[in-house]
Amino acid sequence: MGELLSETESLCPVCLKKIPARKVEDNGKVYLEKTCPEHGESKVLIWRQDARHYLDWTMGSEKGSGPLHSFTTVDKDCPYDCGLCPEHWTRACTMVLEVTLRCDLRCPVCFASADENRQYEPDIEAIRGMYEAVMEGVGACTIQLSGGEPTVRHDLPQIIALGREVGFSHILINTNGVRIAREPDYLRRIKDAGANAIYLQFDGVTDDVYRYTRGRNLFNIKRQALANCALEKIGVILVPTIVPSVNDHQLGDIIQFAKSWIPTVKGVHFQPISYLGRYPHPPGDEDRITIPDVIRALECQTDGELKWQDFLPRHAQDSHCSFSSFFILTRKGKLQAMSNLARGRVTGWGSYTEPPPEESSRRFMSRHWRLNESCCQSRDAGDFYSRLLNYYLTITCMPFQDVWSMDIDRLRGCCGHVVTPGRQIIPFCAYYLTNSSGQRLYPVP
Ligand code: SF4
Ligand code: SF4
Repeated sequence: MGELLSETESLCPVCLKKIPARKVEDNGKVYLEKTCPEHGESKVLIWRQDARHYLDWTMGSEKGSGPLHSFTTVDKDCPYDCGLCPEHWTRACTMVLEVTLRCDLRCPVCFASADENRQYEPDIEAIRGMYEAVMEGVGACTIQLSGGEPTVRHDLPQIIALGREVGFSHILINTNGVRIAREPDYLRRIKDAGANAIYLQFDGVTDDVYRYTRGRNLFNIKRQALANCALEKIGVILVPTIVPSVNDHQLGDIIQFAKSWIPTVKGVHFQPISYLGRYPHPPGDEDRITIPDVIRALECQTDGELKWQDFLPRHAQDSHCSFSSFFILTRKGKLQAMSNLARGRVTGWGSYTEPPPEESSRRFMSRHWRLNESCCQSRDAGDFYSRLLNYYLTITCMPFQDVWSMDIDRLRGCCGHVVTPGRQIIPFCAYYLTNSSGQRLYPVP
């Protein structure tokens, strides 16, 4: 047994009952240990760095302001009362709205397809109700229209316009890129309807990676999707799902690729794989990619162009959920860290002062995860402020929790949510959570 750092609560991977859990340091790494009286012990790696680093990463963490309106009451206790219930600690930075569960791919690593029996597709009135629930529950956060694959819907432009009408000014489209690569007209209609950016699955720079993660060669499709976005002047955030021994050696290549597409590419958002669906055994250390692993790989695979200290915890949610960083692309083609901007804490530039943490995160995404059209007319933007506005790259990361790594304190501070047709707002990691047999904590809408 390792040295105790702190106590929290978690869930039994078999029966999903809430049980006490301990964070311990063992051999210079941090683990989550728990024991279900009925189903036994488990111990999983949550931080591949020592306790001091884990604890330092918490410093400055602050609770947010909670929901504007709770759609549920505190009844069965967290995490069974989502939500958001009155005891949730933050409001929302990002809201996922699933507009379909259909998809034109069948990706082996997709958490949304962990339960393939889910078939629902909300009609436009149901979607209006979901937008209105978000506005009432948490206010005007960033909306991510997701799926399934949202671009299989022909009425996606109408759905985007509806979001604008309800009052959301920052709408992203989560997509595999297949349709926007093939149909530039469709992309134009999405943009004209009010989408601010494309949140593009982008797992690597070679096709062997896509064959593993998505079941087919897709690299050329990704490039075509990016080329179309550049033509249509819509910004792109590349979203790699990182899988051990599949693409964890390509983080540096992904950054170099992203640089070559600035100013169209505005950010890279790494998502280390989590284990949802039927997964009977606890993932071993070798199956986990933790936040320190990603930072270490970025420093190493960019030959020090990106540095360990460039990456900061985000305080809009529990600090162990993510990191954030902001870089300017210099005229010499190097990324220069401006990481204070990642927190939205810079005074004297724009309106950044000291907003509440979730508001700070909303501003960060709204400001940086979109393309400023004026930049495209002047590729030789000369002065510092032009580069600050246009020639930059955000690098962020969020390892989602699964039933093995679930830390209820992290969940209570969650700032990334999903809205359901039944007007529930559920933290992302609870919404997709399954036990080790693939049974969901929250049933199919
Ligand atoms: S995760 Fe948040 S909304 Fe859900 S039960 Fe816990 S505190 Fe309430
Ligand atoms: S979605 Fe999961 S990893 Fe992300 S903020 Fe919420 S609890 Fe943390």
